[in-house]
Amino acid sequence: MNLATVRPHYDLAGAVDACLARGITSIAPWRDQVQKAGVAEAARIIRGNALGVTGLCRGGMFPAATAEGLAAAVEDNQRAVDEAAALGADCLVLVVGGLPDGSRDLSGARDMVLRGLEALLPYAQAQNMPLAIEPLHPMYAADRACVNTLEQALDLCDHLGDGTGVAIDVYHVWWDPKLYEQIARAGAGGRILAHHICDWLVPTRDLLTDRGMMGDGVIDLRTIRAHIEQAGYHGAQEVEIFSAQDWWKRPGADVLSTCIERYRTVC
Ligand code: ZN
Repeated sequence: MNLATVRPHYDLAGAVDACLARGITSIAPWRDQVQKAGVAEAARIIRGNALGVTGLCRGGMFPAATAEGLAAAVEDNQRAVDEAAALGADCLVLVVGGLPDGSRDLSGARDMVLRGLEALLPYAQAQNMPLAIEPLHPMYAADRACVNTLEQALDLCDHLGDGTGVAIDVYHVWWDPKLYEQIARAGAGGRILAHHICDWLVPTRDLLTDRGMMGDGVIDLRTIRAHIEQAGYHGAQEVEIFSAQDWWKRPGADVLSTCIERYRTVC
């Protein structure tokens, strides 16, 4: 369970209790949720309950208008690596960032992402913390992530080498005509670090906070899952639903029980 799915309902400790009560034994918290609890306390809660942490969300956001800005981003990402290590996370999930303020230089932003990753990687490697690059749907290229396809993310991984991989979020990649060939490529390289699920609603009413519950949209979740398993990844499917329009307004218990029911019936 990605804890953004139940962000309005529970703090970290409350979410852990609610998940455990329903047999959910792996979570992916966000940095603000961890910091609110305190990193040491969050680690105590997670380790004390033997919870899996499928990823810490999130690092990234590298592109900056100045060299100092990029250096500050790298430094902040080092703190994120520290936090992920403290929690025993499987990986640090990276949303790499979009265009710096006032910029129209998309290739320059992509270059800064590469430089940021190159600067961060040795620090992450020293702590044995894999960096999971999450390609985001191209509608976020300007403000969140200028890495927009699995192919682009895997090209970065090939360039960077050990300690890097990808988070495959169906919401961002379901439309990609090269999806299945790139999933196979990711698997062959041992690069699949996380698999996020939700659904794409038609119509989508908000670019960020109108993700659907699995089964309510148009994503072929089973086929994508089959390709990911065929590629050798058998880890958790992480439910990540930002839904200000709908699920965030419902009781947390209903959200969790619906996630479980849909996971069993449509995933
Ligand atoms: Zn995701």
